Amino acid sequence: MNIKIRKGDLVEVITGREDERGKRGEIIKVYPDEHRVIVQGINMRTKHQKQVQSQGKTIKPGKVRFEAPIDISNVMLVCPKCSKTTRVELSRQGEKSQRMCKKCSALIDEK
Ligand SMILES: [Zn+2]
Repeated sequence: MNIKIRKGDLVEVITGREDERGKRGEIIKVYPDEHRVIVQGINMRTKHQKQVQSQGKTIKPGKVRFEAPIDISNVMLVCPKCSKTTRVELSRQGEKSQRMCKKCSALIDEK
């Protein structure tokens, strides 16, 4: 289980739809219970919005583009240091544990 992915991480699509394989994007949302994530610009869907009234405001009808969730196993973390897709190792630094790139040993959470 790859639950070491967090909101704000850069990931690459490693499997799934052929036209999306190899694309990169930022994690917008993680659904840990469903093992799904939403990645910016990946798995775009179009929804038809009806005209609705909401608290005195009118929401215009039209097409709304949005990202649909994909399985967390379809993506892999991209290391911000070496820019490669990598597995993550947890390394304990005193009180807190930090995520470390297995390829270049850079700490991923260190900004
Ligand atoms: Zn790295």
